[in-house]
Amino acid sequence: MKRVKNKKNDVTVIAGCGRLGANLANTLSDEGESVIVIDKDRDSFRKLSPSFSGFFLVGDAAEMMLRNEADLNRAHSVIAVTNNDNSNIFIAQVAKEVYQVDKVIARLYDPERECVYQEFGIDTICPAVLSAHEVEKIMGTGPEVPES
Ligand code: AMP
Repeated sequence: MKRVKNKKNDVTVIAGCGRLGANLANTLSDEGESVIVIDKDRDSFRKLSPSFSGFFLVGDAAEMMLRNEADLNRAHSVIAVTNNDNSNIFIAQVAKEVYQVDKVIARLYDPERECVYQEFGIDTICPAVLSAHEVEKIMGTGPEVPES
């Protein structure tokens, strides 16, 4: 079932249409979200599925944030998943501080920077940390979780 959205606050902006960004864009679009996806490489949009019903913009997502070419006033979420930590941080900060976007998520490859940005209200995902947790789970070596 498609979700009904408030017109003023109904867009998810995804910066980076690589393996993760395209996957998210396809999933959210299929769930009925309005999606705008940005990538500097036009070829990246080939990862979007035929059923993708959002918009795509070619260019540097960080520059587009500054020029507000991605309709950030209407965005309830911004997901920064380029393959560059600095770009993702910049995009996330502009979205949070300039446009007061509710939900801002940035992928960070460098685990040491993760906690710093969480303090600014930016949710971060760090593939290295997530992978380490998964490996620990499989190995059975992670911290013990109390039984409920
Ligand atoms: P992946 O590592 O497969 O998730 O891909 C990352 C994507 O981010 C690639 O498609 C890149 O072209 C894209 N990308 C990297 N830097 C930028 C940027 N500044 N603006 C827009 N897209 C970018």
